[in-house]
Amino acid sequence: MKQSIQLNHGQKAIPTIGLGVFKVKDGDTVMDAVVEAIRQGYRHIDTAAVYENEEGVGDGIRKGMEIANISREDLFITSKLWNADQGYDAAISAYEASLVRLGLEQLDLYLIHWPVEDKMVESWRALETLYREGRVGAVGVSNFQIHHLETLDANSDLVPAVNQVERHPLLRQTELASYMSEHGIVPVAWAPLMQGGLFEEQTLVEVAKEVDRSVAQVLLRWHLQTGWVIIPKSIKPHRIAENFNVLNFELTKDQMERIDSLDRYQRVGPDPDDFGF
Ligand code: NAD
Repeated sequence: MKQSIQLNHGQKAIPTIGLGVFKVKDGDTVMDAVVEAIRQGYRHIDTAAVYENEEGVGDGIRKGMEIANISREDLFITSKLWNADQGYDAAISAYEASLVRLGLEQLDLYLIHWPVEDKMVESWRALETLYREGRVGAVGVSNFQIHHLETLDANSDLVPAVNQVERHPLLRQTELASYMSEHGIVPVAWAPLMQGGLFEEQTLVEVAKEVDRSVAQVLLRWHLQTGWVIIPKSIKPHRIAENFNVLNFELTKDQMERIDSLDRYQRVGPDPDDFGF
């Protein structure tokens, strides 16, 4: 099982398990979660300007580096361009503002958070400039459907390094994943635990019993075995540990197929084609 995946551009590989920090607005709480994750061995943190916690994440990164005795190069930090800041100049300014809030010199990955149809090409040009000028490690997108990726492809030579989308057994994203695989775009799963909505699901409970693991661990292992990067969110130390402890067991082909069969194109988050921009 790979612990990181090389991206189609940039120097750093993306660690396959990261910590998500959506909805953790309190500065001390997010700082503590980031410190705990780094202490436990996480090397990848996923935030966004709209989460309003970049300052706390930055504090956690500095404190975590000190406690774990690692350097900035050892970490992979992602943030995202919010919809209101799309467009060329606004995107450059938004990236700079994220760096100031995080207290970092550069990010390892900067994503367009959602595909704002009339602005995403200009936003992508801005991210491309940031990358070509060496101001960001790699650039990518989030919540892009195939047709959004095709629009970028028609307008730019730089292929997004990743596409971060909602993904869990009820929304396997098979067509999108095939397109991304053909184009060398690494798939990153948000809501990999379906935001907690699958813990009672019978097939998952059965598989969890069979492998003597929690349903959360089965879900995360399923993502990894299908080649996806995961960014589960938790602020509780024991869950942060549980979610990281998924590299030392394996689901069989039969167990994988039973989980695959739960797919029914069901989202917990917004539909990228109907976000109400
Ligand atoms: P998630 O699937 O990671 O679920 C988080 C929920 O599960 C929380 O309520 C948490 O308390 C609970 N949980 C976590 N570990 C658990 C465990 N081991 N046992 C029991 N419960 C557990 O959902 P998410 O936070 O929406 O997604 C993960 C990350 O993805 C976010 O934090 C964020 O960084 C990112 N994200 C990105 C987008 C996007 O548009 N790009 C959207 C949503 C989230």
